Amino acid sequence: MIRAVVFDLDNTLVDFMAMKRLSIEAAINAMIDAGLNLSRFEIQERIDAIYQEKGMEFQNVFDQLLYDEFQKVDYKILSSGVVAYRRAREAALVPYKHVYSTLIELLKMGMKLGVVSDAPAKEAWLRLTYLNFHHIFDHIVTFEDTGVRKPNPEPFRKILELLQVEPHEALMIGDWAERDVVGASKVGMKTIFARYGDVFNTFESNADYEVSDISEVIEIVRNENKIRI
Ligand SMILES: [Mg+2]
Repeated sequence: MIRAVVFDLDNTLVDFMAMKRLSIEAAINAMIDAGLNLSRFEIQERIDAIYQEKGMEFQNVFDQLLYDEFQKVDYKILSSGVVAYRRAREAALVPYKHVYSTLIELLKMGMKLGVVSDAPAKEAWLRLTYLNFHHIFDHIVTFEDTGVRKPNPEPFRKILELLQVEPHEALMIGDWAERDVVGASKVGMKTIFARYGDVFNTFESNADYEVSDISEVIEIVRNENKIRI
């Protein structure tokens, strides 16, 4: 009997890659407009390299870009980039289609809802709050809650404990097979691969289920909970 559904955040509930791409594009245009004398391509390449080295959540990417280029930070250019980035990010931070209706339907079905994200607590909570998800989910586990990342079993154990369900009573849905599917399987949860959020062209997810739209989760829960004679 499934009693809880646990979601990954980035590229499962929200299209993180699209949000990042649109925000960076806006920032690049604004920095050029404010006097940064590099081509769009050059700036994009340097930003990609910084993210590659420091991770996608690195918060001082434009400071670093300007410092690497000029050995000092031009605050007119920096602030232009930051403001454009934030405006674009807010506009681009939207859930995938059918996310709200699916979450509401699952709640009506009596499901407990959780999130397990490897994102830093503050960034994860800000994204969740922008979307008003902070009122929908019963519990949210971020990187700081366990200090380890998926596929380590700890974040999964933590959310199960908070939701007060057994592993076999919970479904985990995520876009990153090596982390979401592997980690959840390790603790005995059933798994759903979010094919629609896959950015790695995953060939074999090894999940119990695969979905191309999040609304398919409703049917999976119904089928799992069908009384079999
Ligand atoms: Mg993800």
